[in-house]
Amino acid sequence: MITPTNSSLGTLTDDQISKVSAKGEHIGGLPPSKEAFFHLAVYEARSTAGAIVHLHSSYSAAVSCLCHEDPSDVFPPLTAYQIMRLGKVPLLKYFRPGDRALASEVRAAAREHKAMLLANHGPIVSARTIEEAVYAYEEFEETAKISLLLHGRTTSLLTSSAVADLVESFPS
Ligand code: ZN
Repeated sequence: MITPTNSSLGTLTDDQISKVSAKGEHIGGLPPSKEAFFHLAVYEARSTAGAIVHLHSSYSAAVSCLCHEDPSDVFPPLTAYQIMRLGKVPLLKYFRPGDRALASEVRAAAREHKAMLLANHGPIVSARTIEEAVYAYEEFEETAKISLLLHGRTTSLLTSSAVADLVESFPS
């Protein structure tokens, strides 16, 4: 199930939600989002992914437009929930909307990462359930906001041993 193309989330009804097969065929509801193909790429690559949230929210989109020194991890280690819910977040290069070449980039990143950021676009966040994916997306947007608020300030980051302890204590 996925949001239909050109839809407003506030007015969607159950029967309008688009249904797509694992091969990408439209099998019910309104025609699917033009971005359905990269959602399928995440499900293919990540057996633990039961739901995906992808939006173009302001703070995350802003971070997606920054130049990043380390594109393998766009956020510094700021908070425990960021580490637990998002892990390392890689930046994927820019593709125009609907470009199928994005699917292979997303598929490769999704093997290692539950969250990723599409350059000049927005995040893709996956989790076991839709509730977990929504919470993880909220964490993404808040982390983006915090990282922008702290930009240019001397910041106390989590130490590498604190990050390692979180990863060990809360495996994804
Ligand atoms: Zn998008």
